[in-house]
Amino acid sequence: MRVVFLDFDGVLNAVSDDSSPALGELWSAAWLDRGLVERLATIVDRSSAVVVISSSWRQKRTREELAEMLASHGLRGEVLDVTPRLPKPPEGERRVRAAEIEAWLDAHDPVEGFVVLDDEPDMGRLTRQHVRTDPTTGISDDDVARALEILCAGCAAPDGRARSSSEDE
Ligand SMILES: [Mg+2]
Repeated sequence: MRVVFLDFDGVLNAVSDDSSPALGELWSAAWLDRGLVERLATIVDRSSAVVVISSSWRQKRTREELAEMLASHGLRGEVLDVTPRLPKPPEGERRVRAAEIEAWLDAHDPVEGFVVLDDEPDMGRLTRQHVRTDPTTGISDDDVARALEILCAGCAAPDGRARSSSEDE
């Protein structure tokens, strides 16, 4: 099993001063960008990964509701679970996010590969699996390519950007 740990704000929508959602749009599909969800769908389709939601939206909506929002915007893969909720440490939200993902991984069979899509700058020990999105744009095509490289060597991007020996770092 491959897993995409998924943040919403700053990944599936663009967060800027003039993009605040209307009240009725909070934590709803109306505040997700269809084109950005399509990029997530590309990752999921090519890697056959499942989605585990690490976004704080999981505190406002059920897994089923979140899955339905994503499906309505074009995600075809499975939303398997949400990460557990841990108390916020003194270091703040970004450190708890990584700890919650680690707790999920500890509680499940070893996964084949995983990637963390999140606009937070610091994912602690998960740095190597972290694709940090630009919160002002959401997930980009470059982020998609990087996520696929992290998830599986064989999940080549269609434009020939798959890893080759000459590209290895
Ligand atoms: Mg975010």
